[in-house]
Amino acid sequence: MVRRTSGVKKKETEWTEGRWKAFVVSVLRSGTQKYPEKYETLNAAKTIKKVNVKTGRIAQHYQCAVCLLDFPQTNVQVDHIIPIVGPEGFTSWDSYIPALYCKRDNLQVLCKEDHARKTKREREESRSQKKTIK
Ligand SMILES: [Zn+2]
Repeated sequence: MVRRTSGVKKKETEWTEGRWKAFVVSVLRSGTQKYPEKYETLNAAKTIKKVNVKTGRIAQHYQCAVCLLDFPQTNVQVDHIIPIVGPEGFTSWDSYIPALYCKRDNLQVLCKEDHARKTKREREESRSQKKTIK
């Protein structure tokens, strides 16, 4: 009984390469919150303070680079114009890290809808490229 429990635990805490990579990616991504190029991009997209239609409160709004409409901060995301991981997939940390912490000219503010559309398009492009490689 004890052995079985410990066996399950061991599996859960197993430090596989995939899990290690996912952990490093999440730590690197959380660091972007403190990355000046990122919050400067967000600041540059500021429009006006007005009533957030959802909460009824006054909130700073930001302009989406695609639809040009403005949204409260919770509805916008800072996007990498050239994706961090290209159609070829993850290659190395040497290319991943500088791509994640890129210069402002590769960053833009998008509303959640436009960001989702762009991500979906990039995923499809990556999938079709993988097919042609095979
Ligand atoms: Zn938009």
